[in-house]
Amino acid sequence: MKKIISVFLAGIALVSLCACSGSGSKKLVMATNAAFPPYEMVEGNKIIGIDAEIAQLIADDIGRELVIEDMAFDSVIAAVQTGKADIAMAGLTITEDRKQNIDFSDPYTEAAQVIVVKTGSEVASPDDLEGKIIGVQIGTTGDIYAADIANATIERYSKYFEAINALEQGKIDAVIVDREPAKVFADVNEDLSIIDEEFTVEEYAIGVGKENKELLDQINASLKKLKDSGKVDEIINKYIKAE
Ligand code: GLN
Repeated sequence: MKKIISVFLAGIALVSLCACSGSGSKKLVMATNAAFPPYEMVEGNKIIGIDAEIAQLIADDIGRELVIEDMAFDSVIAAVQTGKADIAMAGLTITEDRKQNIDFSDPYTEAAQVIVVKTGSEVASPDDLEGKIIGVQIGTTGDIYAADIANATIERYSKYFEAINALEQGKIDAVIVDREPAKVFADVNEDLSIIDEEFTVEEYAIGVGKENKELLDQINASLKKLKDSGKVDEIINKYIKAE
């Protein structure tokens, strides 16, 4: 009986192996942090979202097999830098500092950092953050730019939801986070509001290792086709409903 089971298991392993390398194509490993809705989030045992769908279309276009690796956000850049991943797609904002370490594709969408507060908070604009206790996720642009706020105390969390929890519990005064995830967080937590005036305006792009110019060119060519054909907008509009 034991033998039959192991033969059976071996059969399953073989089948799943075949399914993975079906086309025999080279993998395109994407580093992300799948806790950033609507760009990347887990549904069942799959990672879905705007970035995951755009990445899939790019992989199809350049004839590679997309493999998504979920990790902490602050590991995503290092992953492409060290070659552990081919691309970083994580609602990743283009910054001059990051350009020292990785290359960015052309941008595929505009984005912003916004301020989330408890409804009725005295913080009503970015200027009101002075001297306040502000939660951020480690390594994000929210974290980087919050450092410029005068007299503020910055609480750095490894996950946004921990920052949001701290805000709900009144431990901190505000959370700085990207606009679309902020909308998702504020939607599920009725006592949270987003301040209208944006903290920063940014653009998201795909991160690629500096030694990987050929891939960068391929990605930019694909991205251009997907933008021109309206595919990128279609994916974005599927996940982000117009107000
Ligand atoms: N856009 C922000 C950044 O690039 C946050 C991204 C994220 O947390 N996934 O730093």
